[in-house]
Amino acid sequence: MLLFIYNKAVDYTRAFLHLFYPHICLECGSEQLSSHSALCTVCENNLPYTNFFTIENNVIEKVFWGRCKINAAGAGLFFSKDSIVQILIFELKYKQNKKAGWFLGRIIGSSIQQLNRFKKIDLLIPIPISRRKERQRGFNQSIIICEGIQEILPALKIATVLKKPKSTRSQTFKGRLQRSKPLAHLFELTDPISLQGASILLVDDVITTGATIEAACHCLWLGQPQSVSLAAAAYTL
Ligand SMILES: [Zn+2]
Repeated sequence: MLLFIYNKAVDYTRAFLHLFYPHICLECGSEQLSSHSALCTVCENNLPYTNFFTIENNVIEKVFWGRCKINAAGAGLFFSKDSIVQILIFELKYKQNKKAGWFLGRIIGSSIQQLNRFKKIDLLIPIPISRRKERQRGFNQSIIICEGIQEILPALKIATVLKKPKSTRSQTFKGRLQRSKPLAHLFELTDPISLQGASILLVDDVITTGATIEAACHCLWLGQPQSVSLAAAAYTL
């Protein structure tokens, strides 16, 4: 009897929570999905996977040729307007839906898990966002993606050593040397020593022009890591 009452209470609680947090597939609305997932298995299988992680000299790696040293790079999914990938990114960034971010992170984790060229990675470094945006959003979306990667590859550590400087306005008054390095002022390294000899995976949500990554990458090399690789949840065509 007690168990019955308990089960009923759980049912009612679940129904009540469902009113406010409906746990349905973001693509098709199906309720047939695991509690920590953002999509049902069918929609997950139909996602536009890039397979870039497996391909050497892929289009993302070429974006950075001659700009900064990146050992291996890839993105989980193709990003296009009005697609489910856009919805996943939107949910993560503007609707505080961390499940969407963990889901995207797990896609990266599963994609690189068996690959030799990502084998030595020991550190995940999320691309930072401005302090103002992080306050508004409540979190940095790239950290959530890193947590998703960690679910698949628990040995990897997340290091939030890249920061956005407090105010970019002060940069106007920086010397000529600083200004001569394009975008170098976009980031600062809070603990360079922790990067010495590390094999880094820089993590971002969507890769577009690559300018942010380029700046972040230059900043990371100041810490003398062994290698810098790159993984994004999505890549825009
Ligand atoms: Zn679905």
